[in-house]
Amino acid sequence: MATQNTQTSGTQPAYKIIDHTYDVVVVGAGGSGLRATMGAAEAGLRTACITKVFPTRSHTVAAQGGIAASLGNNTPDHWQWHMYDTVKGSDWLGDQDAIEYMVREAPQAVYELEHAGVPFSRNDDGTIYQRPFGGHMQNMGEGPPVQRTCAAADRTGHAMLHALYQQSLKYDADFFIEYFAIDLIMQDGACRGVIALCMDDGSIHRFRAKSVVLATGGYGRCYYTATSAHTCTGDGGGMVLRAGLPLQDMEFVQFHPTGIYGAGVLITEGARGEGGYLTNSEGERFMERYAPSAKDLASRDVVSRSMALEIREGRGVGPNKDHIYLHLDHIDPKILAERLPGITESGKIFAGVDLTRQPLPVVPTVHYNMGGIPTNYHGEVVTIGPDGNPETVVPGLFAVGEAACVSVHGANRLGSNSLIDLVVFGRATGHRLRDTIKPGTSHEELPKDSAELALSRLDHFRHAKGSQPTAAIRKAMQQSMSKHAAVFRTEELMKEGVEQIGGIYRSMEDISVTDRSLIWNSDLIETLELDNLISQASVTIASAANRQESRGAHANEDFPERDDANWMKHTVAWFDGWGGKGGTTRLDYRPVHEYTLTDDVQYIKPKKRVY
Ligand SMILES: Cc1cc2nc3c(=O)[nH]c(=O)nc-3n(C[C@H](O)[C@H](O)[C@H](O)COP(=O)(O)OP(=O)(O)OC[C@H]3O[C@@H](n4cnc5c(N)ncnc54)[C@H](O)[C@@H]3O)c2cc1C
Repeated sequence: MATQNTQTSGTQPAYKIIDHTYDVVVVGAGGSGLRATMGAAEAGLRTACITKVFPTRSHTVAAQGGIAASLGNNTPDHWQWHMYDTVKGSDWLGDQDAIEYMVREAPQAVYELEHAGVPFSRNDDGTIYQRPFGGHMQNMGEGPPVQRTCAAADRTGHAMLHALYQQSLKYDADFFIEYFAIDLIMQDGACRGVIALCMDDGSIHRFRAKSVVLATGGYGRCYYTATSAHTCTGDGGGMVLRAGLPLQDMEFVQFHPTGIYGAGVLITEGARGEGGYLTNSEGERFMERYAPSAKDLASRDVVSRSMALEIREGRGVGPNKDHIYLHLDHIDPKILAERLPGITESGKIFAGVDLTRQPLPVVPTVHYNMGGIPTNYHGEVVTIGPDGNPETVVPGLFAVGEAACVSVHGANRLGSNSLIDLVVFGRATGHRLRDTIKPGTSHEELPKDSAELALSRLDHFRHAKGSQPTAAIRKAMQQSMSKHAAVFRTEELMKEGVEQIGGIYRSMEDISVTDRSLIWNSDLIETLELDNLISQASVTIASAANRQESRGAHANEDFPERDDANWMKHTVAWFDGWGGKGGTTRLDYRPVHEYTLTDDVQYIKPKKRVY
C-alpha cells in the first residue's frame, strides 16, 4: 500500500517520502475527528486518521461538565428551546440553519453515545442525569433554568473519548498515531491530501485522498493562560491560512469564568449548575446585580465580564484583589463526591483548597475559540468564491469540531454545546463523505511539487539559526494576546496589539532551533506549532481591531453596544506568508444565515440580550 519516493525540496537535501492513498484522511482524533473517522469507515471508505497525540490524549478528554441535548429527563425541554438559547447565546451571530440541525440531531447523538458505552450518570429511574448549565433555559429563554446537560460526573469528555476510540477500532480505519500533519496538498483550489511527519522515526508521509477532514481542535495556546492543553495550537487553522483560505470570526475568544487562579485549570460550569456561586471581597453574590434572572448561570461572556468589572472596581479577593471566590462549601459533600469528584481533586492540587470547607480562587481564563475554519452544516469548508459567492465549497476539504466555525456558536458558545457540536457535525461529515465519494475509485496523480510547501517549511525551521528561541517568541505572543485581546478591549489597546503581534510575527525570521534531528525533535515540533499559532494570533487581533461593536465575547469599550445594522456579519480573514514573511491580514465578510433549515421553526429575530 505504502510506496517510497525521494523528493528534493528547493535547494535543501532530499527527504524520503512514503506515499499512501486513501479515500478519506482525517487529521485529529478528538471527539470530532473520531466521529468523522467512524462515519467514513462505516460507509466503506478507505479511511486514515492522523493524530499528533495518542487519540485518548486529545483535549476532548479534559471536558468536564457535559453535553447538551433536549432529552427532558430532569425538567421539561424541547429542541426549539435549545435552539432559542443557542441563538441568543451566540448574540445572533450563529447561523440558524446549522443551529437547527445541531439541536434537532442532539438527542439522537447522545443516545448513540449511550449505546456506544458512555457511562453517563443516572437518575433514580435509570434515565441519563442532566444538570443545569449557563444560558440554557426553559420556555424560549423565559426560564426557569432547564436541566439539559448530560453528564458522566465531571469527566464527560473522558468517558466520551474513550468510548469513541474503542468504537472506532471496530471499523477498518488506519490510525497514524504521533504523526504531525504539516501542510495540506492543494491543487487548483482543491485539497488533494496532506503531508505529515512521523515524530518517532522522522519519516515523511504523503497522504493522497479524495477528501481531507481537519479536526485539529482550538488554538487557545495563543494566550498565556488557557484551560486548553498545550497541544491546542490550531494546526488546522494554520494549514488553512497557508493554503490561501480564510478563517472566520476569529475575534471571538471565549473566557471561561472559572479557571483556577494562577494555574488556569478549569472548574466546570457544572459547579455553578450544581448550586455553586461567586462572591467578591465584600462577600456579595454580585451576579444578582448583573443578571437578575439567571444570576451565576448567565452565559459565559456575561459572567466573565461581570467578574472583570468587580476586579477592576476594587472588589476582587486576595492580597492583590485580582480574583474572585467560587463557593461550593454549602453543598452536601456527598453530592460533591458523586457529581464533581474531579474538580474537588483539582481544587486540592492546584489551589490547595478543600472545596467542602473553603471557597476556590478563580478568574476568567481563555477556554474556547468560537472562530475557525468556515464550513456549512455538512462539514464542507466554504470560502468566498471568485464570483463573490460566500458559500463556495472548497473541493476535498472538510473541518469539524473546535477547529471549524459552522457557525453554531456565533459570538459566544454556551457551555456543553461543544461536545454536542463534535458528535453531530462529525457524524454529518461522515454522511457527506459517504454521499460524495465512491469507495475504491481511482485517484489522479498528484502535482510534482505536492510536498514543496510542507518540506520547505520543515527544512527552514529545522535549520533556523537565528537568535531568538521558540519559547521566547511564543511567550511574547502569549503575553501580548493576553493584554490586547482580553475580556475587555479598547480601540487603542487593539491597535497597539496589531502592531505588537506584527512585530512578534516578523521576529519569527530570527528564530533559533537548536536540535536538527528529525526524531522526537520537540524543539522543531513546537516551532511548527508556534508558526500555526502566530498566524492565528495575527488574524485574531486584526479581526478584533476591525469590529466596532460589542457582541458576545467581543467587548469593545469604545463601542459598547451591539450594532446589528452594520455588524451582524461574519468576519473572514486571510493571511499571507509564513516564517516571518508577509504577515498582513486581509478582511472581508460573509452574511449570517438569517434563515432556518426547515419550516418547523421560525427564524429567531434579534433582540437585546439580557439574562
Ligand atoms: C478543560 C476543558 C473542559 C471542557 N469542558 C467541556 C464540556 O464540559 N462540555 C463541552 O461541550 N465542551 C467542553 N470543552 C470544550 C470541548 O471539550 C472542546 O472544544 C472539544 O473537545 C474539542 O474537540 P475537537 O475534536 O475539536 O479537538 P481536540 O479534542 O482538541 O483534538 C484535536 C486533535 O487533533 C490532533 N491534531 C492537532 N494538530 C495536529 C497535527 N498538526 N497533526 C496531527 N494531529 C493533530 C490532536 O492530536 C487531537 O487528536 C472543554 C474544553 C476544555 C479545554
